[in-house]
Amino acid sequence: MKRVLGIHHITAIAGAPRENHRFYTEVLGLRLVKKSINQDVPDTYHLFFADGDGHPGTDLTFFPWPDMGPGRIGAGVWGEVAFAVPVGSLDYWEARLQDADVTTGERETRFGEAVLPFTDPHGMSLALVESEPHADHAFTAWDGSPVPADRQIRALGGVRLTVRSVEATAAFLSGAFGFGAGERDGDWVRYTVGEGAAGQRIDIRIDPEAPRGAWGVGAVHHVAFRIPDEEQELAVREQITAHGGQASPVIDRFWFKSVYVREPSGALCEVATDGPGFGVDEDPAHLGETLVLPPWYESQRAAIEAVLVPLETTYHA
Ligand code: ZN
Repeated sequence: MKRVLGIHHITAIAGAPRENHRFYTEVLGLRLVKKSINQDVPDTYHLFFADGDGHPGTDLTFFPWPDMGPGRIGAGVWGEVAFAVPVGSLDYWEARLQDADVTTGERETRFGEAVLPFTDPHGMSLALVESEPHADHAFTAWDGSPVPADRQIRALGGVRLTVRSVEATAAFLSGAFGFGAGERDGDWVRYTVGEGAAGQRIDIRIDPEAPRGAWGVGAVHHVAFRIPDEEQELAVREQITAHGGQASPVIDRFWFKSVYVREPSGALCEVATDGPGFGVDEDPAHLGETLVLPPWYESQRAAIEAVLVPLETTYHA
């Protein structure tokens, strides 16, 4: 079977786009690597935050939909998203987040690693975990970041999911993507692929009484998993179908090719190719500086730009 390499990107729903942009670039120190629009809702942004080169596995993307109500983590909706940071950097990060008036939780040890939970300005549950990414993961420090290179976020570390019963979800994640059940820590069981390092983890908790989750501001929309190329993506698509998943056709997202499916508890998953990447339609030195539109929207550029609020960057290296 084909196994995914780990997490490719995670997409969530944000509130106001300027607050979202300011937090992820100026507080968390990520690079805005693509400024585009929602292909189905062209008067709203789709913003992509990642490492210096926009590598797969570093990318948290947002649909800023400030008019939507708050989201709710629960059955069928992905939970907290963890970022991997260098071992020994949590003291720096805790001080940095508190200086920026970010709501932080108590430090925890999860699966033997130090974790700092926190919440973004729109209520999204996040965590920083001191953990090394897997061997297939590539990272480039962003030299425009206000965070020093040796403290920067290295990767998306993992994601949590609460289910009412686990059997169907576990069988699907295994058969379609190659995730296997591993260690338990308290209520959580870690499902891993590859080495099970940061970027290759889904932590699942069973709660038969869990309320249904809901998409909304602060909620994860979907989690995408890495596959090297389109040929292997088609093989994974067949695995999805063979395990009862309703797979979408392959959709060209310009920077990668995608297949979407809901796992049995309802959480939306995607498989995304590593290439061609964010440099396919912009100079890598100037990613994210201009609004990138799908070709069929180019004729409406002036009208689209007129309704999008400009994003301001106050920090410059
Ligand atoms: Zn996606």
